[in-house]
Amino acid sequence: MDLPDVKGRLEKNYPLKKLNTWKTGGQAEMVFWPENLNELAEMFSWCKTYRKPLLFLGHGSNVLLPDQGFQGMVIVNTQLDKIRWEKESVRTEAGYSLMRLAREAAERGLNGLEFACGIPGTVGAAIAINAGAYGEEIGNWVQDVKVLTPEGEIRMFNRNDISFGYRKSSLQDKKYIVLESSFLLKPGGEGGLMKEKIKDLMEKRKRTQPLEYPNAGSVFRNPPGDSAGRLIEQAGWKGKCVGDAQVSEKHANFIVNKGNARSEDILKLIQDIQADILIKFGVKLETEIKVITG
Ligand SMILES: Cc1cc2nc3c(=O)[nH]c(=O)nc-3n(C[C@H](O)[C@H](O)[C@H](O)COP(=O)(O)OP(=O)(O)OC[C@H]3O[C@@H](n4cnc5c(N)ncnc54)[C@H](O)[C@@H]3O)c2cc1C
Repeated sequence: MDLPDVKGRLEKNYPLKKLNTWKTGGQAEMVFWPENLNELAEMFSWCKTYRKPLLFLGHGSNVLLPDQGFQGMVIVNTQLDKIRWEKESVRTEAGYSLMRLAREAAERGLNGLEFACGIPGTVGAAIAINAGAYGEEIGNWVQDVKVLTPEGEIRMFNRNDISFGYRKSSLQDKKYIVLESSFLLKPGGEGGLMKEKIKDLMEKRKRTQPLEYPNAGSVFRNPPGDSAGRLIEQAGWKGKCVGDAQVSEKHANFIVNKGNARSEDILKLIQDIQADILIKFGVKLETEIKVITG
């Protein structure tokens, strides 16, 4: 059961806390940061052969990781960050930072991704879950996507072969791992104006989101025609705590870690809010974040 001979960093008994923005979770048995797509595919196939549970992560800004740790391999794709710009398009590997991509597109006068300037994830995860903000979503700008299938095959999909919905995609439904993608953007943007727009959006986030504490963005999806934050605030949850996990005073759809919160504290708040909102408004809130089990 020797591990594959790889150049990428490999750690044993590594704290999950360091791999997610809530900064919670126990120890991972193994964590691997592949240096290139071949190494990723190799480790993936090793895990399949030896039936090792596998968890794939980007920046960990949309996950709740288990306090009891993860017995298996966590593959973190943040070193997969090659990028190639063309006149009206860009191709990136899955680990490229979405915020950086949005800023760099604006600097080149390429319109489209400004909405993503405050989304602290990787491009690959953003495509899989169709990240979005201010009525825009990443799926609108995707041209093609290269994936690794659960069977270990590499496949290429055109935009028209993928369906994107509210924070979901057919790629995620099929458990495909996004390896690489290209975006077709709109040239002719005025760099200065686009930078101004990004600055405004970032200031708005700072004003309305509790960025001073570890968090994972919006915890719940908005129910059709309503806002999860509005329902949670109206039900009186702002500021409520379980341990060091607190419903943000600034934005009711955020749960923050005020110090030493555990994932189970966050999960308890999530479940209590879900039960209360169902009773008070008859609405079943679903999580936007992914709860990972050990
Ligand atoms: C302050 C803050 C603000 C945020 N604002 C927004 C927002 O405005 N809009 C929004 O949509 N989200 C927002 N988010 C949530 C999050 O940043 C996005 O969902 C982001 O796309 C997640 O990327 P990640 O790399 O951190 O994914 P991770 O948290 O690492 O992973 C998320 C899920 O995707 C899977 N995954 C990871 N990489 C891949 C891949 N390459 N292929 C397939 N699956 C993969 C993981 O297994 C996991 O299930 C916010 C988060 C924070 C902390």
